[in-house]
Amino acid sequence: MLCVAACLSNAQAAEIKIVTTTTDLADITRAVAGDLAEVSSITTGREDPHTLTARPGFILRARDADVWIRIGMELEIGWEPVILRDARNTRIRVGMPRHIDASDHVIRLEVPTQRVTRDQGDIHPEGNPHYWLDPLNGRLVAATVSERLCVLYPEHKARFEENLRRFERDLDTRMFGTALVDALGGENLWRAVAEKRLEAFMTEKGMADKAGGWYGTMRPHQGKNIVTYHRSWVYLTERFGLGGDLQLEPKPGIPPSAKHLASLVSDAKARKVRMILQEPFYTLKAAEFVAARTGAKVVVVSTMTGGSAEATSYLDMLDNVIRKMGAEL
Ligand SMILES: [Zn+2]
Repeated sequence: MLCVAACLSNAQAAEIKIVTTTTDLADITRAVAGDLAEVSSITTGREDPHTLTARPGFILRARDADVWIRIGMELEIGWEPVILRDARNTRIRVGMPRHIDASDHVIRLEVPTQRVTRDQGDIHPEGNPHYWLDPLNGRLVAATVSERLCVLYPEHKARFEENLRRFERDLDTRMFGTALVDALGGENLWRAVAEKRLEAFMTEKGMADKAGGWYGTMRPHQGKNIVTYHRSWVYLTERFGLGGDLQLEPKPGIPPSAKHLASLVSDAKARKVRMILQEPFYTLKAAEFVAARTGAKVVVVSTMTGGSAEATSYLDMLDNVIRKMGAEL
């Protein structure tokens, strides 16, 4: 009798409670889980994800979570361990199947070949954790989440997989445009991208003039250089063929110094930089200093879902970033 009651109440409360560390993960997870899960994010998209402080509300949510998903690569090292420790929810501890590290299968950049310690001030000691700005990594994260949810909830496998295909189709279309995706297929296009032969592939197929989407928007700007505040843009600049190794911060997490900015101004002039990009949560002083001496334009744009009015979803966030860059470069 008890079992029947328990089973019935489980069936009615079909919702899986998923807590993600960031809003981009939450949005991607919603796309995959659909109405089978209630998904919430610890960050709102408006704060610097490196420097969040754990609050009691976060711990309560973690206590209740069926699944926890993080960006990983030490992005959340300052606050995730505290939340998970105090939540006392052993199911979502690091290493458990219900703790998903979204970086497991992404393409990683700037992974050090030698040991780097945080004592030197660098907050990217395990490589650059801002990988979600590469749309290919967003696609890989969705697949990672779907795969794990299928293992945890095999009864919903078909739904998760169908949702994943829909998300991939949406992402691919935004990346390459409908004409290319319809003619050549998203998987084939991404394979060519990963092999650094997309242009050759399009030419072989007689589609060289059919590039649309984000790729089409950024294609005329390949080879241009930009300055950014933090090294949070390298996945985007790498994916779209821009030069992005000039930062206002001398090292990730170290605020701009006068000495560093002086040498940056001469580097930016030499590389004909026309744009300085930064997230809304950094102060504008350093960017304005460099802009005044180089003629570059300062563009403030959110790199996280929910970080601005336009960034209502992961794909809309990328859309907004690329639209602004395309218009100003
Ligand atoms: Zn960072």
